Amino acid sequence: MWFLVMLWASCLLMGTHAQSSASFRRANAGSGRCQYTFTVDSPTEASCPSAVSSPEIEALKSRLGLLEALVARLIGGEAMSKSTQGSGSQSGLQDSYKQVMGENAQLQREKQRLDRQVQNLQQRMEELRQEAESLRSRPCMQQPPPRVPQTDNSFRPESDPAWHYENPGYQELTAVVTEVSAPNLEGPADISGCGDLVWVQEPEVHRKADGIAGKYGVWMQDPEAKEPYAPEMVWRIDAVGSEVRQLFGYENMDQLSQGFPTKVLLLPESMESTGATMYRGSLYYQRRLSRTLLRYDLLSESIAARRDLPHAGFHGQFPYSWGGYTDIDLTIDENGLWAIYSTNKAKGAIMISQLDPDNLEVKGTWETKIRKSSVANAFMICGKMYTVASYTSPNTTINYMYDTATSQGKTISVPFKNRYRYNSMVDYNPAQRKLYAWDNFYMVSYNVRLGKQE
Ligand code: CA
Repeated sequence: MWFLVMLWASCLLMGTHAQSSASFRRANAGSGRCQYTFTVDSPTEASCPSAVSSPEIEALKSRLGLLEALVARLIGGEAMSKSTQGSGSQSGLQDSYKQVMGENAQLQREKQRLDRQVQNLQQRMEELRQEAESLRSRPCMQQPPPRVPQTDNSFRPESDPAWHYENPGYQELTAVVTEVSAPNLEGPADISGCGDLVWVQEPEVHRKADGIAGKYGVWMQDPEAKEPYAPEMVWRIDAVGSEVRQLFGYENMDQLSQGFPTKVLLLPESMESTGATMYRGSLYYQRRLSRTLLRYDLLSESIAARRDLPHAGFHGQFPYSWGGYTDIDLTIDENGLWAIYSTNKAKGAIMISQLDPDNLEVKGTWETKIRKSSVANAFMICGKMYTVASYTSPNTTINYMYDTATSQGKTISVPFKNRYRYNSMVDYNPAQRKLYAWDNFYMVSYNVRLGKQE
C-alpha cells in the first residue's frame, strides 16, 4: 500500500519537474464538495479552442454592419432633410397661394352672381312699381266724392264727423286718406295769369337728402330774387332737430341735384316748422318756441324785422295732420306774403293773414271753417288757399279752397301725389308756377295748371 502511494507521489513529482506549466487548483463546488482541477500543456494544441464559434462572430459582424448602415442612413437622412427643407416650404407656400387664389376666384364668381340677382330684383321692383302706378291710373268703380255746397256760408262743418274739434296731439298724426279716381293724364289747359288750381302734375325729383336731418325740411326759390342772388338760386333747410339754423344756397337746380351748395348761412335765431319762405331777398320764418315771425335779410345776413303773429298757436298747438311743429305756415303767391295758422279763439280752424313783407304787420285776416289738423298742408295761389288732404296717401287730393277775395271756401278734388308717402311741406312759387314739396327726404316740384274761375 505504502508503495503505491510513494509511486504516485514520485510520479507526481517527476511530472511536476517535467511539465512546469501544469497546475492544480481546488475550489468549492457547492453542495459541500470540493472540485479539483488539473491544468497541463497539450503537446498538440497551442491554445484552447475558442468558446465562441465562428458563425456567431459572423452573425455579430453582420448585425454590426446593419447597425452601421442604419446609423449612416439616419445621419444621411437628417442631412438630406435639412438640405431639402427650404424647397419643401416653398412648395407648400405655392400650394397655399394656389388654393387662396382659387377661393378668391370662386368668391368673385359668387359676388357676380349675387350682383346679377340684385339687378334682377331691382328691375322687378321697378316693374311692379310701374304696374301699380298703371293700375292706380285706371278709372275704377268708385263712388264720386260727395257733392258739397259751393259756398262757404252753406258749408256746414257740424255735419262733418272729422270736424269736431279735438285737442291736437304733439305727435305726428294719421292723415285723412282720400283715394280718388285717376286724372286725365293730359290735364286741362293752362291759362295765363290768375285762376283756380285745376291740375297738378306728377312730382319731379330734384334731390334726395343724404342724412337723417333731411327726412323733412323746406326748400324754395325766391320768386322775386334780389341782388346778390339770382332768381335761379335754390335755398334749402333741413328741418329735423331742435336747432335748425343752417340755410344752404345752391346756384341753380343742377347744383342742388348734385348736392353742391355755394352758400351756407347761419341764421341768428333758430327756426321752427317747415313753413319758411323766401321773398324779395329775405327769408321769412317762425322763431323757435314762439309766435314771433322773423325776416332775415340775405344781403346784410341779419334780422331785418320781427313781429308776433297775434294769438297764433305754436310748437305743436295747431299743426297740420303731419304733426311736428307745423303751426305757422308762411307762403307766397301772386299777391305777396301770407301766414296760415290757427288760434285758440278759432278752435283749430285755419286762419289766413296777409302780411306786409317789409315789417310783417298783418294787413288782413280771414277765418276759414276747415280744421287745420284735418289737412296735411296748405298753400296760396292767386289769393286762394288750398289744402292737401293727406301727406301719406300716394294718391290724395287738394280737397279744399278758400278765396280771400270773396271770404268763401269750398271743397274741391284735384288729384295730388305723395310719391314717397311723407310729405312735410308744400308751397307755391308764383314765378315758377310750381308747387315745391319735401316728401320723405325728396325735394320735389309739381307743375300746376290754373283754370278760369267758376
Ligand atoms: Ca305750406
